[in-house]
Amino acid sequence: MNLTPSNANENLIIPYEDKAVLFQAALDQSYSSIVITDASNDLDGPKIIYANRAFQKMTGYTINELVGKSPKILQGPLTDQKVIEKLRVCINSGTHFEDSTINYDKNGNPYHVEWSISPIKNKNGIIQYYISVQKNITSYIKAEEERNLLIRALNDSPDCVIITDSDNKIVFVNSSFETLTGYHEIEVIGKHPSFLWKEATLEEKLKTELRESNNHLHFQSFKPNIRKNGTVFYVDQSIAHIQDENANLSHYVSFSKDSTDRISKENALKDLAAKDSLTDLLNRRSGEQLLMHYDSNRKHHGKPVCLVMLDIDNFKNINDTFGHAVGDAVLKTIGRTLKEVSRSSDNVIRWGGEEFLIILPDATLEETLVLTERTRKSISDQVNGEVGQVTASFGVAAMFKDETTASFINRADKALYKAKLSGKNCVIAGG
Ligand code: GH3
Ligand code: MG
Ligand code: MG
Repeated sequence: MNLTPSNANENLIIPYEDKAVLFQAALDQSYSSIVITDASNDLDGPKIIYANRAFQKMTGYTINELVGKSPKILQGPLTDQKVIEKLRVCINSGTHFEDSTINYDKNGNPYHVEWSISPIKNKNGIIQYYISVQKNITSYIKAEEERNLLIRALNDSPDCVIITDSDNKIVFVNSSFETLTGYHEIEVIGKHPSFLWKEATLEEKLKTELRESNNHLHFQSFKPNIRKNGTVFYVDQSIAHIQDENANLSHYVSFSKDSTDRISKENALKDLAAKDSLTDLLNRRSGEQLLMHYDSNRKHHGKPVCLVMLDIDNFKNINDTFGHAVGDAVLKTIGRTLKEVSRSSDNVIRWGGEEFLIILPDATLEETLVLTERTRKSISDQVNGEVGQVTASFGVAAMFKDETTASFINRADKALYKAKLSGKNCVIAGG
C-alpha cells in the first residue's frame, strides 16, 4: 500500500511498523462498523477488501463472505435508489458521501443505516480505496417514528393538550389548543398557563367556589378562561403528572374538553336563580351567600367589608299616585344608578321591595360614606319622568371584628331607620 502519510501520523511517537499494528487493531476493534473497498471500476463497482468485526456483526456476514463482494449485496427492495444514485455520483467525482437508507443483513432483515464514504488516494492523488463508516440507526429511527406518532396522536386529538415542564412553563400545545384559544404555539411556549385565566369578578369567584365545593370531580373547572380574541371559554380538565426515570416530577400533561356551551347554559340558569328579574341585580338569596363568603374571607384575610342599606323614600306614594308599573320603572332606574355609581368590585343587591343592599369589600367606613353620599346625590338629582325627583335614605356599617353577619346587617338596618327618622334623603353611619 503506497498511501500518503498524514501530518498527524508523523506526530505519533510510534515506530512505523508498530503504527501498522496499531491501525489494524484500531480498525478491527472499532465500535463503529468499518468496511474498505477497492476502487475497481467494472460493472459491479468497488469490491470489499476489509470489514471489521462490528461490520460483520451488523451485517451477519463473515469476513470470508464479504471479501471480493460488492457492498451492493446489502441492498434490497427498500433501499432508497435516490441515495444510491447520489453515492454513485460522489464516488465517480471522488468526493465524500454521507446519507442514510435501508440495508439488509445476511438473513434478509432490513435495518436503517447511516454511513459515510471517503475516498483514499495515493500520493499521486489517484483514488485507490474507499473507506466507509456505518452505523445501524434502526432503534433511533424507531424512537423517532414513535415520537412522531405520539405527536400526531396528540395533535389530532379533539381534546386540547398542554404539556408544561416542572416549573409549569408550556413546552407543547396541540392544534386543538390553537383552535380553542386562538393562540399559536410560538406565542405560548415558555409561558405559565395562567395567562389564559380570566381575572374573575368576585361574583364569578363566588359561583366557582360554591360549585367546586359541591363538585368533587376535580377535573371539572368552572373557572373562566379567556381566548386571544377576549371571549370567555370553559373546559373540563384533567392533569397527569409525568415522572422521570428517578421518579422526580418532570412534566404536567393537561387534557381539556371545551365545555363552554354547557357551562354557559348552566351559568345562565344560575343567573336566573341568582338574580332579581325586575332590576337584574343579585337577589336576596345571592346577597346572603355573598355575605357568608365575605365573612369567611374577612376571618381568613382580615380584609374590611362595609354595608350600605338603602330604602326609597315614600315609595308607596309613587305606586299609589302613578301606578305599580311606574313604581317598577323607578325601581329599575334606581337599580341601574346604584350599579353605575358603585365600584366594579361592589355587589348591589335588591334586598326586598324598594330596599337595596350594597356590599363593599376592601372599603373603610370613611370611603364608604363618601361613596354613599355620591350615590344619594345621584339618585336625588335624577328626574324620573312624570314622577320627578325620587330620594332614598341610607344606613352604613363597617363590619366589626368577630361580628356575626346578622348583627352586621342589623346595624346597617338600624342606621337606615335613623336616616328615615332624621328626615330621609340622608346617610347615617351605624355605631
Ligand atoms: P318610607 O319612606 O318610610 O320608606 O316609606 P315607603 O312608602 O317607601 O315605604 P313602605 O314600606 O310603606 O312602602 C313600600 C312599598 O313598596 C309598598 C309596596 O307595595 C311597594 N313595593 C314593594 N315591592 C314592589 C315592587 O316590586 N314594585 C312596586 N311597584 N312596588 C313595590
Ligand atoms: Mg321606602
Ligand atoms: Mg321599605
